[in-house]
Parts: sequence; structure tokens; C-alpha cells
Amino acid sequence: MTEDENQPLLDESGRHHTYTSLNAYITTNDNHERTGSHTTFATGEKLISGRYESLDYECDESEISHMEEKRLGHQHTRRLAVLKWVIMLLIGICTGLVAVFVDFAVKNLTKFKFSYVQNRLDTCLSEHCLFTPYLTWIAINMSFVLVSGLLILWEPAARGSGIPQVKCYLNGVAVPHVLSLKALIAKVLGVIFSVSGGLAVGKEGPMIHSGSIIAGGISQGKSSTLKFDFHIFKHFRTDKHKRDFVSAGAAAGVAAAFGAPVGGVLFALEEGASFFNQQLTWFIFFASMVSTFTLNVVMSAIDGHFGDLSSPGLINFGLFKDVPYMWFELPIFILMGVMGGVFGALFNELNLRLTKFRHHYINRHWVLIIEVLLVAATTVVIAFVLIFTTMNECRPIKTQVELNSPTIQLFCPDGQYNTMATIVFSTPENAVRNLFHSEIGTYKAWSLLAFCIVYFCLTCWTYGIIVSSGLFIPSLLIGASWGRLVGIGMHNLFPSIYFNPGKYALFGAASQLGGIMRMTISLAVILIEATGDIVLGLPIMIVLTVAKLTGDYFNEGFFDIHIALQSVPFLPWQSEVFLSRLSALSVMSAPVTKLKTVEKVETIFRILRAESHHGFPVVDHHADETNNERAGTFQGIILRHQLITILRKRNFISLNDSLRDYLTLDDFRESYPRHPSIESVHLTDEERELYCDLRPYMNLAYTVSHHSTLPRIFSMFRGLGLRHLVVVNDKNEVVGMITRKDLARFRMIHKKGHTSIEELGISN
Ligand code: ATP
Repeated sequence: MTEDENQPLLDESGRHHTYTSLNAYITTNDNHERTGSHTTFATGEKLISGRYESLDYECDESEISHMEEKRLGHQHTRRLAVLKWVIMLLIGICTGLVAVFVDFAVKNLTKFKFSYVQNRLDTCLSEHCLFTPYLTWIAINMSFVLVSGLLILWEPAARGSGIPQVKCYLNGVAVPHVLSLKALIAKVLGVIFSVSGGLAVGKEGPMIHSGSIIAGGISQGKSSTLKFDFHIFKHFRTDKHKRDFVSAGAAAGVAAAFGAPVGGVLFALEEGASFFNQQLTWFIFFASMVSTFTLNVVMSAIDGHFGDLSSPGLINFGLFKDVPYMWFELPIFILMGVMGGVFGALFNELNLRLTKFRHHYINRHWVLIIEVLLVAATTVVIAFVLIFTTMNECRPIKTQVELNSPTIQLFCPDGQYNTMATIVFSTPENAVRNLFHSEIGTYKAWSLLAFCIVYFCLTCWTYGIIVSSGLFIPSLLIGASWGRLVGIGMHNLFPSIYFNPGKYALFGAASQLGGIMRMTISLAVILIEATGDIVLGLPIMIVLTVAKLTGDYFNEGFFDIHIALQSVPFLPWQSEVFLSRLSALSVMSAPVTKLKTVEKVETIFRILRAESHHGFPVVDHHADETNNERAGTFQGIILRHQLITILRKRNFISLNDSLRDYLTLDDFRESYPRHPSIESVHLTDEERELYCDLRPYMNLAYTVSHHSTLPRIFSMFRGLGLRHLVVVNDKNEVVGMITRKDLARFRMIHKKGHTSIEELGISN
């Protein structure tokens, strides 16, 4: 134990020390060993996964990049700016069209299913054969959900909502296959079948992932899977450019899902994009606008009233007309925020435990599929139980007509419909709208309570099974049901005052969603845009803020929990204050594998085969020699894929060569993003004796002094989107290397009133 501020965590042998201060301590996982710059760890939960590579969001300051800029001139920069707008337009249009396709398919499959089951139900009510529609319903749902499950076995990257994966990508982590065409196909078809299969899932979350994939694909103008390349957008084949387009795609997805273009921009800002600037905001806003406009135009045509642009999003919450609120209701809204925070935290905790259980025990393909089928069947059984326990809850059909929602008569007299069956039998979106707008007295308190508990448990169980699924709508539905319950309670307590239960359902929905996801600004705007009512904006903001604060007291937001579970080296917005006691020396890797500015081919080849690192500092070899190979003056950094390209293209020289043929940026872009491995390189003995001049290709990257504190290093990584940060001493000699994994290893843990820093290991 030490109180010395600059005490390194690594001793000479590379083992980590435990660092303790008055307020904090670091617990080290002893299940690992470090040897030099290689790390081997036993597997365990407290690990950062080494299999995630980072993305390179740093500006390219290499000589060949400057040469290209000079050659193409100012005209080219303007052309690129125009092309960016064109790509944003295409992203908006394509995302809007995919959203229409999903909606169209879900509506028709659901219609087919419900009309089939309802016909059977109507016949069997008189013929006493109720088990037939019941079994038919189960069979249809199970087969739909089976398709969704099989699609995820085909492409696992499409599992869940995809939001955590997109968030990681935008943070700078290369999540495998997250932007692949296969993932898009599996995501889109998967969500159609899981929603139509009656699961407690929504299609809005997957739209965000779909938008991101569409953006990633369009912006590259090529597909490695389909093997075509239009060559038009080749200048955007860098992680940095692609990241901006993916942010726009995520925003366009939100815009199409909720009809909320501003909400989309804010979602990208709050949840997604880790790096933002003013121009990017305009681009993203444009893509979101186009997306919702495209959806609106096409939906109006499909619905038979072309030109009447009244369907801006997949979900239509319906308008809240003349629903004011009074000052004395504000404490109730705060209380609802607290409830949402508590229920949200409970939901996250239960889902976390279930996911851990799943990781351990439900991981074989056939078991995963059985779980999916079981969830589908259980959902139907529970729906049936709910319907039959509330079979006398009937309301006149005319009250439902203006909601444009299908009604189910079941055991009710003619001219009336069964309220619970109408919620259970329709899509979750329709159910939310019903809860928001049905008049007072439509639902009995006990039925709502039962529905809320059941749906809470079902949603918790469903999120994580191998289907493509969104959590927005189920969360809104849970919240809308308990929110409406609060409204009914208020009405019963104060019969002389009119408490609109629909309004309370809206606040409950907002609160529950905020409690689970811990978003505030974007959710507030999404809900305001989706309900079209600015009057209720303030209460929505209040419940969202209170729900977030309350939820944060207990645990992290839903997506952050899932990111941590996958051991992703995710960098949060800011480093913890306690880390200011640590310096670069404490976290860097040393000794560093580095290369000379003019390096022997054999050496490069040997290093690339022996080491898995993706970045190597380039040092001045004269300085290196005088310093007895201990260190060299830092010149720049070169990436693994660049070295492989140089070797593959045989860009070699002999030591006395003066005239050189440099590779161009196009040579390096060729293989982006799937760069070949070193195993694809075969060299002759003569070639190995030659040299590579790395100077034109190396990036003049940022460095940091070995005295710098961790928060400073952290903000450099976050602010500049770094992949590697070279640590230098006072003589500008390379003494260490820091990557995002070195920073993501430190995590705050709050337990029983104590706050501590935990140091995680890096697994292979
Ligand atoms: P990335 O995974 O981000 O693409 P990388 O593979 O180069 O980058 P990491 O996997 O993040 O590096 O790093 C694993 C460990 O290796 C880290 O502790 C890091 O500091 C260390 N490391 C990275 N590059 C070097 C290097 N050139 N020499 C020595 N250690 C290095």
C-alpha cells in the first residue's frame, strides 16, 4: 500500500500493485499475469475482453495524406462536402423505407394472425372448442418466433435491440459484424417475426441499429459481402468518416421509429455519438428529417391518403388534446418519477441476473431456441389467462372507434368489446395508445395491475433471448399501465377533480422508460414529438429527470449494464476523480514494441507475426542506436494494417536507394474495413533483407508525458477519439504505450456506502 501519487501500479516484472488512497482503493484481480507487453488472463466476469479492437477516430496527419490533399486541391474538399449531403440524403431515404417495410410486414402478419385466431375464437365460443384457437395462436406465434431465433443463430450480431453495440461502435470499439449486411437482414426480418410472434418486444430499438447499418453501408459505396464497389465514396473509407455516418443512421432510425427528427439528433448526442461537432449535428438533423419525411410520404400512400402527411413515425401515440395539468399535480409527477426509477432499477437488476444465468446455463443453440419457443408459448398462455380472468370487462365499441384500434367482442354483448382482450390481442404500440387515450372507466384497476406485473416479468424475461427485439415500447407499456393505475387512484381519492388517466399513463410510460434507460433530454423530446403536445413537456421532463436520478442511485442504465456484461472496453464520458492520483506511468504498457523510421522487412514481418498489437510507435533510428536500443525519439505511429499493406505491395527499398515510389492512400483504403492478416503475406529471402521507409505513412500522432495524470489522458482519448497514445519522457523518447483497454480497466464500484476503484484484467 502506498500514498505516493505517482507510484506505478506495475513493478519491474509487470505485476500490478494495489493502489489505495484515503477515500478509495483499487481491487486487483489476481487471476492474471503480465509478461512484458503480453497479458494472459484466466476467464472471469471481471475482465475487459481483448478480442475487441479499437477504431481509429484520429485525424490522418501522414505525409501521403498531405500529398493527396495537395494533389486534389480545394475543389476536392468541396466535392466531399457535397457528397456528404448526398450520403445523408440516401441514409434518410433508405432508413425511412426500411421502417415502412418493417411496419407494413408487422401489420399484415399480425392482422393475418389475429383475424385467423379471432375467427376460430368466435366459432368456438358457441361450439365449446376454445382449445383450438388457443393452440392455433400458440402454434402461429411459436413458428414466427422460431424464424426470428434462427435468424439470430445465422447472424448473432442482430440479437437484441442493437443499441448497446451501436453505442460501443460510436465510442470507438470495433464490435464484430455490427454493421454487416447479414446483421441488417437478420435484424429487419427478425424484428418483423418477433413482434408479429406476439413477444413483449418493440420494433423501435432495432430501427436504430438498422439505420446505423444502412448508414455504414451506404457511406462506403461498396459491399464486401455482395462483392461490388462503386468507387464513388472511397474517400470516406476511414473509421472517422464512417463513425459520423453511423451516428446519422442511428438518429435517422429514431426519427423513423418515433416520428421524432429532433429526438433522433438528441438521441445520437445523448446515447450514441461520443464525438460531436456542429457540422455533424446539421448532417444528422438532415438525415433524420429526410427519414421521417420519407416514412410519412410512403405510409400516407400505403394507407390510401397520399399527400396527407400524418404518419411521421412507426409509432403513433395519438394527440393529447386539451389535457392541461395543475400546479398541485407536480408532487404526484415527482412521485411517479421516483416510482419509475425504482421499477426501472428493479427491471435492470432482474434482467442482469437473468442474463448472467443465461451466459452460464443457456448457451447451446438448441437450448437457446427452446427458450425462445418457451417464451412465445408462455406469452400466449398468460394472454389467455388475462383475457379469461377479465372476461366481463366490456365497454361500448363506439368509445374505441376514434382510437382507430381493433376491438374484440369475446364474451361481451353485441355492441361492446372486451377491454383486456383488446390490449392483449393488439400490437404493443396499439396497446400503449389505448392506455393513453381510452376514457376513464375503460380498465379496471385490478386488471391493469395484473397486466402490469405480468408484462413487466415477460419483458424482463424476453429481453436477452435470441431474437431481434426492442425495449422502448414494452417499457412504455409497463409504465403506461401503472401510470394509468395512478390516474385511476387519484380519481378515486379526489372524485370532485377530474384526473385524466391517459395523461398519467403517459407520465408513467415516460418514467418507466427513463428509469430503465436513464435518458432524459432525448426521451423528453421524443415523447413530446411523438405525442405532439408541448403542454405536457414540463411534467415529462420532471418525471424523466427524477426517474434517472432515482434509478442511478441503485444501478446503471440498461444499455450500460449490457455493455459492461460483454466486457467491452467502453470509455465513459469522464474519468472518475479518484483516478487523478494515477499517472501515465501507472497504466502504460512497457516495454513498447517499436519500429525504426527505415526498418528491415524481416523485422517488421517477425514483429507482426509475433505480436497482436495494432499500433507501433516509429522512432528515429539514429537516436535509438546512440541510446543503446533502450528508447528512440518519437516520430509517429504506424498501424498494423498499414504495415501489412506495405509488405503485400512490396514497397521495399535497399538502403542506398534514393528514388522511391510511395504508395497512395488509395492503396490503404482498398481493403478497408476488412484488412488482410499477416498470414496472407509471403516473402522471399531476398525481400526480407530489404527495408521499408515508414516515414511517408506514419501518422504524426499525439503523445503524452509520463508525468500526465489519468484524467488528462482520459479526456485526450475521449475528445480526440484516440486508439493509441504513446508515452514519452522528457527527451521525447518512447517509454510506454496506452490504449483504451488500459483506461477501461478502471471502473468505479459502489457497494454498501463505499466507493472504490476496481482494476479489471484484459482477457485474450
Ligand atoms: P486495439 O485493440 O485498440 O486495436 P492494440 O491491439 O494495438 O489496439 P490493445 O489490444 O488495446 O492494443 O492493447 C493490449 C495491451 O497491449 C495494452 O495494455 C496496450 O497498452 C499494450 N500495447 C499496445 N500496443 C503496444 C505496443 N506497440 N507495444 C507494447 N505494448 C502495447
